[in-house]
Amino acid sequence: MKNLYKHLLNINKAQTMVDITNIIEEDIRSSNVRDGIAVVYCPHTTAGITINENADPDVVRDLIYGFEKAYPSNDNNYRHFEGNSHAHLKSSTIGASQTLIIDDGKLILGRWQDIYFCEFDGPRNRTFYVKVIEA
Ligand code: ZN
Repeated sequence: MKNLYKHLLNINKAQTMVDITNIIEEDIRSSNVRDGIAVVYCPHTTAGITINENADPDVVRDLIYGFEKAYPSNDNNYRHFEGNSHAHLKSSTIGASQTLIIDDGKLILGRWQDIYFCEFDGPRNRTFYVKVIEA
């Protein structure tokens, strides 16, 4: 497939957000696409892709804390046999993909924005895809 990049992540925590912005920028350079769209896609049901603050690491910590407060992992009223419904809820809230704009070879991102792969039922080995489309 043209300009499709597959990446592996070794997630060593139960719940975490990994900054993948540099990986996506490298894919865009490899593609030689100067203007277009990058789709970042996560094929896992307890993980997701989001965009949020890159400056204060406490923001990532607080996001994980807030998701855990909204969807507690120790709630015994879930029915799903795997026992990881909290992670499925967090995954659906975050979403499986992000669509990014490439302008003159660079991602349009706010100064304080980076792109994160989020996992809520680690540790696991995970994959995500980047598709770069000229447009
Ligand atoms: Zn499950």
